[in-house]
Amino acid sequence: MPTLKSYNPATGTVMGEVPITNPGDIPEMVKKSRNAQPSWDQLGHHARNKLLVDAYRDIQSQTERLASLITREMGKPFREGLIEAESLGSHLEEELREIELAVVPETYRDEKSLSTVYRDPLGVCAAITPWNFPLSMPSWMVIPALSTGNVVLLKPSEETPLCGQAFVDILNAHLPKDVLNVIHGADEQGKKLVESNVDLIAFTGSRETGKDILRSASRTFKRVVLEMGGKDPMIILEDAHLEKAARFAAFNSFRNSGQVCVSTERIFVPEKIAEQFEALLVETVEGLELGDGMKETTTLGPMVNSRQRDHVLGQIDDAVTEGAEILLGGDGHKDNFVKPTVLTNVTESMSIASDETFGPVACVTRVASVDEAIRKANSTPFGLGAAVFGENEEETSRIARQLNAGMVGINQGVAPCVRGTPWIGARESGYGFHKSKDGHRQFTQTRVVTKRF
Ligand code: NAD
Repeated sequence: MPTLKSYNPATGTVMGEVPITNPGDIPEMVKKSRNAQPSWDQLGHHARNKLLVDAYRDIQSQTERLASLITREMGKPFREGLIEAESLGSHLEEELREIELAVVPETYRDEKSLSTVYRDPLGVCAAITPWNFPLSMPSWMVIPALSTGNVVLLKPSEETPLCGQAFVDILNAHLPKDVLNVIHGADEQGKKLVESNVDLIAFTGSRETGKDILRSASRTFKRVVLEMGGKDPMIILEDAHLEKAARFAAFNSFRNSGQVCVSTERIFVPEKIAEQFEALLVETVEGLELGDGMKETTTLGPMVNSRQRDHVLGQIDDAVTEGAEILLGGDGHKDNFVKPTVLTNVTESMSIASDETFGPVACVTRVASVDEAIRKANSTPFGLGAAVFGENEEETSRIARQLNAGMVGINQGVAPCVRGTPWIGARESGYGFHKSKDGHRQFTQTRVVTKRF
């Protein structure tokens, strides 16, 4: 049986392998899932949720093992892997209650009729996930899908099949057969799954793949929930607390080596304070330690693979050729490791200012006015997150409302945000969304039944 090997991006060693799913078997797998769905639905919320709670207890009892798997499979520092593993199901019971409340039948009545709005499971959901949060992305989709009575076929990224398999194995020790199954492979398996007889495709990944999925799904009007990439701007105002702003810029440009959908990819700073801000940013970034994420002192791991490394280095080279100045970083990158890089004089025409980088690079653009910063911040087709830093509450709020993004942070990133709010992208970053009452409802079909008195 052909296998999919998983490599440690820090060392290049093989971590393990999983059997690749034969694309020709996917329609039959969907059929099996569909057969399992009615009894899963009939169990009811309470029983389904209990099984999920039991499964997530198992996850929580092995967060160190899971964190180490995340780090060795995709490279993020162990402490970041631990934060991800610990976040799984950390508020599960509240979340399950919110999901149940979102789909509980509602009644509307007037003097003649009674209408009941039901939110029924769609049936079979495909969940297609990326590698940068290899446990939390599957979890974000699987919890609302299963809790609302759907069954799921999960296709984890080909870069992190062991994390995907570990997640499914833990849940399947508690769930009935065929309620959750895994499909291993790359785009061929993903495409086949999208074309198959599933009812909804929940996807997180790149914008290009999102477009492919939308095209394919449109043939049969399959429901889709698509969370794509971003090119998040950060606007710094003249009265901002500069140390705070520099600390945030360093954190949010370099966390997970910049391989985060809501990484700060563009920083707009007024000319007057630019030099001071850049010096603070460089000083903070100099303190980062690049290395194998399993080493305790590492704060910056490798790129997930050589393709991603080449993409990031290509964007840096092009930017420098077009006039960007390197304040930190530059050459000497080894294997999959990209040295933390700070660029200034970044202009709109550079690919690093318009296409997602997904790497450890902070890009500074000096601006003459707030209006210029807002215009430039809104100049890409992306619209996931954004941040604005300044001390005048009225002004930061006014600017936040002018940024064309799904989520905006004032003097912080897009998270933490208050529970119950959606994770959402605007424009080409999102088509559908996660979390929140409306987000959970996307996993259901709304039906209205009316009777006359
Ligand atoms: P990707 O689009 O290459 O792959 C994502 C998944 O889709 C993988 O499982 C892959 O095998 C599958 N796939 C690839 N081609 C397919 C096709 N034609 N049809 C169906 N499935 C297909 O993305 P990636 O490189 O794994 O992840 C990085 C991207 O994910 C970045 O753009 C990042 O911003 C984005 N992301 C977004 C969010 C968010 O919340 N918006 C969160 C995490 C990551």
